[in-house]
Amino acid sequence: MKAIAITPGIKNSAKLIETRDPKVGDIKGGRGVLVEVLKAGACGTDREINDAEYGVAPAGSEHLILGHENFGRVVEVGPNVSELKPGDLVVATVRRPCGTSIYDLIGQQDFTTDNEYYEHGISRLHGFWAEYYAEDADFLIKIPPAIADIAVLLEPLSIIEKGIKQAEDIQRRLDIWRPKTAAVLGTGNVGLLTVLALRLRGMEVHGFGLELPEGYLNAGLCTDIGATYDSTQELSVTESVKKYGDYDLVFEATGYSPIMFEAMQTLNENGILILSSVTGGDRTTDGVPSDLINQQFVLGNRVMVGTVNANREHFEAGVRDLALAEAMYGGWLGRMITHRVKGLDNFAKIFEILENGGEHSAIKAIFEVAEI
Ligand SMILES: [Zn+2]
Repeated sequence: MKAIAITPGIKNSAKLIETRDPKVGDIKGGRGVLVEVLKAGACGTDREINDAEYGVAPAGSEHLILGHENFGRVVEVGPNVSELKPGDLVVATVRRPCGTSIYDLIGQQDFTTDNEYYEHGISRLHGFWAEYYAEDADFLIKIPPAIADIAVLLEPLSIIEKGIKQAEDIQRRLDIWRPKTAAVLGTGNVGLLTVLALRLRGMEVHGFGLELPEGYLNAGLCTDIGATYDSTQELSVTESVKKYGDYDLVFEATGYSPIMFEAMQTLNENGILILSSVTGGDRTTDGVPSDLINQQFVLGNRVMVGTVNANREHFEAGVRDLALAEAMYGGWLGRMITHRVKGLDNFAKIFEILENGGEHSAIKAIFEVAEI
């Protein structure tokens, strides 16, 4: 079969390869499922791996097949798979419990304390930019046909679902927590999906991005579902509370770490700040009002939590939100998929979009690998 692979440690090494067809029997215990990839998403992670910033090949392989955002159709199932059948639509989760930490052992691999991750298309496991893959049924999420066209957004949405679930779990310390207002920092694909998820929970949501709102698709997507959009060129996050009031929940998804300190000052009493940006640089920040922030956190029982990756339950929550979004805001998710590239052969175009399309003109670029 065809796949797109990189050689770890070598910049711009992505190439089309011909590799062995996966088989149901590759998976132990009769639990294998052979899946034909229909669509595969692309994001900054894929670009960074192709830039050799990180990425590890599976043991015994020189290359790593890229791709973690996926959607496909079951072709064949092993003898011990009863929950899926050929023709079913599925999305695979990304991280596997291959480590030794207690969290791997109890199936909470998204909370692993190991330093080595096992993630499809990222670290030690081949990804989904391929024609087929074989996977254990335990890691496949069934997708209703009604959301087939946008289900490739489930993996990025699962990250947000985990963040929100963590906030809900933490806030059980309060006997009553009914968050009314939220700020979402960053309106790239993760930020927009967060605006959506919080609007689906009935919250008043304020999105913030760099771009000015006029003619900016991402701003229009915010306002089309009843959220506001402000450019931080015109209204800083700190200043925004004078207009909107303090926030019960703030979700950070900009990739720009200094904004975290602003976000910390905008929380309501008992409020929670969720951090999701992986900021790999070495930036430091001067002029942080540390006494003020510290006092606000102490006197207001505020919380800050980091969140990464997602588990099966977060993907399942994401399926429900995708279906609810289609019911409430039909077509909105489809507008987020701004670039559709036909065929794996055109992978150079995907990288061109990731490099030059930027956050602004491209919200989400996907491969259409095969017809649904
Ligand atoms: Zn991604």
